[in-house]
Amino acid sequence: MSAQHSQQGIAVSIRSVRKVYGDPATGPVALKCVDLDIRDNEFFTLLGPSGCGKTTLLRMIAGFEFPTAGEICLYGENIADRPPYERPVNTVFQHYALFPHMTIAENLAFGLESHPMGQRMSKAQIAERVAEMLALVQMERFAARRPSALSGGQQQRVALARALAPHPKVLLLDEPLSALDLKLRQAMREELKSIQAKTGITFIFVTHDQEEALTMSDRIAVLSEGEVQQVGRPDDIYENPRNRFVADFIGETNFISATLISVAGEQAQYRIAGGAMIEARVVDGLQAGSPVTLSIRPERLQLVSEDTPNALPCQVHAQIYMGTDLHYQVELADGLRVTVRTPNSAGQRQRLVEGQRAGLLFEKGSASVLLD
Ligand code: ATP
Repeated sequence: MSAQHSQQGIAVSIRSVRKVYGDPATGPVALKCVDLDIRDNEFFTLLGPSGCGKTTLLRMIAGFEFPTAGEICLYGENIADRPPYERPVNTVFQHYALFPHMTIAENLAFGLESHPMGQRMSKAQIAERVAEMLALVQMERFAARRPSALSGGQQQRVALARALAPHPKVLLLDEPLSALDLKLRQAMREELKSIQAKTGITFIFVTHDQEEALTMSDRIAVLSEGEVQQVGRPDDIYENPRNRFVADFIGETNFISATLISVAGEQAQYRIAGGAMIEARVVDGLQAGSPVTLSIRPERLQLVSEDTPNALPCQVHAQIYMGTDLHYQVELADGLRVTVRTPNSAGQRQRLVEGQRAGLLFEKGSASVLLD
């Protein structure tokens, strides 16, 4: 549902937004100049390391902070003058902030009654909405319990139901899974994704966890030091990182220095140290002789026997057993070290050992040219 509707309009439009805390001339700059369009019904993730400005951006959409410059529009309307409770937006925080002396149903009802939308609803309508929301997050059975009698995951589901109850057009989620253990986090990812698809509400999700971002999002914006580095679908960001920061932050990669040798149509030949040639896309503005950095994911490299045609000779420097995978660090003739990841499958039972000579193959299309 979300993918189909996502083309229909823009839910949140962020235009040249800058945020400086305190004195605009001397205060810390949280966001430099951010432009983003978040589509209606989209699961959109703001991903980046601690301090990159994700929460600041979320708080400005919610109305808890104000931009120093630029504007934020919700469904085409500039919301600068609208206080938080008049925005069609609600937030789920990392800490659930449920009232301990109220039951789960009372927590939800209270949340609604104190919201402008709930104030227009009768007691019966509120009770009906509470039941509907508890069913949505599969917590009907717990309606009469108090928060202290629920697990962390259950409390987070209640917090989600409470935020969804006023039917916001946009739901902001600030690292909502980070207090949960790994197994629960993984289960909640699927649940969040399915609730977003069921409700059709635009979700803006903040995380520093790249796996969370890759598995749940329709699109991701990668942020670093107050700037958007890249926006795209998870596969696009992983397969075609724009720059060194994105390639490094999302997954593991090998950075390989290369020189552009020749161009043929959309593809170009790059020579890596040691003389081997690698094909990758053409980049505007580069000329023969230009130095570039290539990013090649470890799973797109293959270790074969030494005498395989076109394989680069290499030597195993180290091997690490990872359970599902084996990681090899191999050294090429010129001293360049790369990491190769191979699945721990039946075909890989013959493990290579340190010091063993082998051949290295680059899968076609595996190299991304990084712009900076
Ligand atoms: P985290 O994942 O650690 O929450 P984040 O990406 O959400 O980080 P923000 O909380 O948006 O980052 O902070 C961005 C920058 O702004 C940081 O350098 C932070 O120190 C600074 N900052 C945030 N809030 C304030 C504030 N109230 N006053 C001054 N500086 C602030």
